[in-house]
Amino acid sequence: MEIKKQLPVCVSLGPGDAGLVTLKALKTLQEVSIIYCPATQSDGKPLSRAKDILDEISIDTQKIRIFLVPMSKDRTLAEKVYSDIAIEIAGCYQTGRSVAFVAEGDSGFYSSVHYISDKLEEMDIDVQHIAGVPAFIACGALAGIHVVKQDERLSVFPSGTSTEEIVMEVEAGKSVVLMKLSQQKDTIKKTVEALSEAQFHYFENVGIAQKEFYTNDRNEITQRLFPYFSLLIIKKIEREIERD
Ligand code: SAH
Repeated sequence: MEIKKQLPVCVSLGPGDAGLVTLKALKTLQEVSIIYCPATQSDGKPLSRAKDILDEISIDTQKIRIFLVPMSKDRTLAEKVYSDIAIEIAGCYQTGRSVAFVAEGDSGFYSSVHYISDKLEEMDIDVQHIAGVPAFIACGALAGIHVVKQDERLSVFPSGTSTEEIVMEVEAGKSVVLMKLSQQKDTIKKTVEALSEAQFHYFENVGIAQKEFYTNDRNEITQRLFPYFSLLIIKKIEREIERD
């Protein structure tokens, strides 16, 4: 008899607040038999935001398989880990076990788990994706701002940009989201100094108890250390249209 196979599911967990895990993600995580969950190594211990979220929503620890992703700038080692995990996931799928892998925020928005999905697709295994709340959306809500409104445009920079480029975007009236600030500390500081006609909204660890931080004070922003989970939203200051 042929085994009934359920496609591997890539489940987005949202940025950290367990309340932002969707009902669809929760239901899937409760139903699957195996969940692959990324972690990084810190002081000899695995550190995983994703695992913390799974714990908070009471997912059975027995079915969670933590895998360590090397954090080095050279992504070759990390790619190898993702590729090995994809092969394990393919094995689960072939033998009829329901399997999921998880990502923080939305898995389709600058998430490294795309290496797993890509590898599975290469092996002719389709992946089902469950959408999640990306960090910048949760950040906008925390600050109580409209990230973009009416016909405003939005530019998102993951890293590798320059102050000149950001200034150009903001001066053209766009809202700008800067991510992975830890990789572009000098650019951020120079941008805060260069743009006087802009509002800066700076966030750390949004949705994480005791660690969440928000400020729109420029001086405070330039003094922060820009940890990995930090993000900046920049908007041009709106001027009232002068009327007679
Ligand atoms: N898939 C994620 C993004 C992963 S890239 C998403 O949909 O949001 C990682 C970057 O996202 C971090 O460097 C940081 O800029 C941002 N980020 C993710 N979670 C965050 C959080 N809880 N608080 C602040 N920034 C966060």
